Amino acid sequence: RTAYVNGRYCDLRDACVNVEDRGYQFADGVYEVCEVRGARLVDFPRHMVRLQRSLRELQIDEPMPITALAIIMREVVRRNRVTYGIVYLQVTRGVARRDHAFPPSSVKPSVVVTARALDYEKKQQTAATGIKVITLAENRWPRVDIKSVSLLPNVLAKQEAREKGAYEAWYVDSDGFVTEGASSNAWIVTKDGRAVTRSVDRGILAGITRAVLVEVMGALQIRLEERPFTPAEAREAAEAFVTSASQIVMPVVAIDGRVVGNGQPGGITRQLREEFHRFSAFS
Ligand code: PLP
Repeated sequence: RTAYVNGRYCDLRDACVNVEDRGYQFADGVYEVCEVRGARLVDFPRHMVRLQRSLRELQIDEPMPITALAIIMREVVRRNRVTYGIVYLQVTRGVARRDHAFPPSSVKPSVVVTARALDYEKKQQTAATGIKVITLAENRWPRVDIKSVSLLPNVLAKQEAREKGAYEAWYVDSDGFVTEGASSNAWIVTKDGRAVTRSVDRGILAGITRAVLVEVMGALQIRLEERPFTPAEAREAAEAFVTSASQIVMPVVAIDGRVVGNGQPGGITRQLREEFHRFSAFS
């Protein structure tokens, strides 16, 4: 497998960054994950708009023009022969003597790109069965709108989910409402067929899959309510699912050990999963 690290393509086993990279020492960096389908990048322009915003919010310089990043990401996909999978991009503030405050402006951001094939059949199988989620108290910093590599709470949440036989963890804020998953946005479908997800103004990452799905719903005339919901409402909902670039629309069939609906992926969820890529931009 091949990676791109700061100007070079190399074998993944030799793909290293400096021990004084600020991503390594401070988690001082951002990332993006794009789905790869038919060896093409899904909704790449939107991911790059979000990347630019994350960088701007953290005052990290753009490492290169987006057109150059596109070439590198496609090349890593090509060299790894990924037809279905994900491509990962990470940009950190660069390498400098350890000091919390920003380094001099002469320090250039670090860029790493990797790509990985996923097992399409296995993913479809998971989607046919659905996943389980647990809920836990929100314990992340307030700037979760930035897609930063600072993911320790998410790591612990995912591990807790795994230990409880679940795949995803939904955070619940101090008002008792679900914010989002540790690596996905959270959705329910009410008994009268309305899709509900929290609005992007507070407490969540503005998911690209979420944004595209809002458009899909418009086209399919599925009613949408952007508002918070509680774990109790979710447990009583007709359907539930999560969205992310690597899962697209993934049905949720149990929340904290309680079955959602009839314990099978819901009909609207399935429809959304099937229709999703008709509305994607491929590049
Ligand atoms: N929320 C969090 C915390 C995430 O980590 C992710 C993706 O990994 C998402 C939401 C979904 O975002 P996207 O659809 O852009 O992958």
